[in-house]
Amino acid sequence: MNNKNRQWRLARTPAEGWPTEGDFELSSTGIPSPGPQQLLAKTIYLSMDPYQWGRRRAGVEVVGEVCHGRTVSQVIESRVADYQEGDIIFNTNGWQEYGLTGENISVFGYMYPRKIDPAIAPISTALGVLGMLGLTAYSGVYLQCQPQPGETVVVSAASGGVGQNAGQIAKLKGCRVVGITGSEQKCNFVTETLGFSAAVNHKAPDFAEQLAKACPDGIDIYFENVGGAVFEAVKPLLNKNSRIALCGLISQYGGDDMASMHALWRKAGQSIFDKQQVTAHRLFVGDFVADYQDQFLSEMGEWVKDGLIKYKEDRWQGLENTPAAFSAMLSGGNFGKTIIQVSDDPSTDEQLNKKRNSVNVLG
Ligand code: NDP
Repeated sequence: MNNKNRQWRLARTPAEGWPTEGDFELSSTGIPSPGPQQLLAKTIYLSMDPYQWGRRRAGVEVVGEVCHGRTVSQVIESRVADYQEGDIIFNTNGWQEYGLTGENISVFGYMYPRKIDPAIAPISTALGVLGMLGLTAYSGVYLQCQPQPGETVVVSAASGGVGQNAGQIAKLKGCRVVGITGSEQKCNFVTETLGFSAAVNHKAPDFAEQLAKACPDGIDIYFENVGGAVFEAVKPLLNKNSRIALCGLISQYGGDDMASMHALWRKAGQSIFDKQQVTAHRLFVGDFVADYQDQFLSEMGEWVKDGLIKYKEDRWQGLENTPAAFSAMLSGGNFGKTIIQVSDDPSTDEQLNKKRNSVNVLG
């Protein structure tokens, strides 16, 4: 084992805007030893998530701290009961090669560490389709908005980590799904590969007209990931008694206004709330973990195994590329769920793979 631990630490509290080079600092330290009720794990995959930027801007993550991030890791040494060297786990090592995890840590309703069975699906899926992003989509579309066959469902950031799942779940429920993305290539992907009925590029000058054309019967369900100009184009198309899953407002995360997402949303959505025609569900995935995680894993696991849900990862190699991948994801430079591969994936060994069914990973 290499005896160095490379880490990205927060170099300053970003005041406004989007990440820049000076926000993060790469350093190297020794590999720590686990204390009582701790385990040491080596990071295999590190998840890039928009909420990480909000934490940094709001000062939740303090200067000098290792940047937070959800990870899939392999246990190197354990002083936690039931965890052994070699186990693959879901934890929050953050932006570093090795990290310590305590016993029963709770983050966003999830308990860490948690074992992952590589025989069920590729282990990176614990950060995407079979992890928090999949549960977010499942909760918003299925549990909150309760789609009915024939309804029109519009999903923004439709090729991204959450969006691709949200659209496919609505499609499985018999809906007509329209995706909004930021490029022609992404639009083609959601229609041709994921089977959405239509897709519209929000960067097109006549985006609002194109969206209206793609939704001739209006919009019954809107899965909101971005806010801003996209939401303004969606608003006039919302049918009476339509539902919105307010998942995220990524277009606003670099804004000067550090108001909470829900305050931003109230401002943006006041006119429709006033008319009481639209039910807007505040979506926070942590609210669904305790009651729905098992149901989600069983149902979504089957859909993925049977090829009914496909997923696309945008995989970067090497911890050194983390800030670049993070910036790309926040600005639409990603294509699929953004993941950094920090070290070799040991579960690709034939022995671990032998029970695994084929799954639908798109390159
Ligand atoms: P994605 O993989 O979807 O990546 C972000 C995407 O947002 C980009 O690829 C880009 O897609 C789009 N985007 C960025 N800036 C803009 C803009 N100005 N206008 C329009 N689109 C933009 O990220 P995730 O799947 O991880 O997250 C999607 C959303 O879900 C985020 O808002 C996030 O905060 C939210 N979220 C909420 C959770 C909850 O519990 N409520 C849990 C997890 C995520 P394109 O190129 O197509 O424009």
